[in-house]
Amino acid sequence: MPMDIRVGDVLTMKKPHPCGADRWLVLRSGMDFRLRCQGCGHEVMIPRAKAEKGIKSVEREKTR
Ligand SMILES: [Zn+2]
Repeated sequence: MPMDIRVGDVLTMKKPHPCGADRWLVLRSGMDFRLRCQGCGHEVMIPRAKAEKGIKSVEREKTR
């Protein structure tokens, strides 16, 4: 079962980015995730399977 990850969610990852932040905003969901580091603004594309292994928690605005 793929995890329920949507655009606008903020993912907390087990492994922090080199800049020190461990939170990433989801810009695109699907087979690949496009994520933006909330610390330095760096954007990455990661295959879903790989990204899911590194996710510690998912935050979603309650209003969405
Ligand atoms: Zn960063």
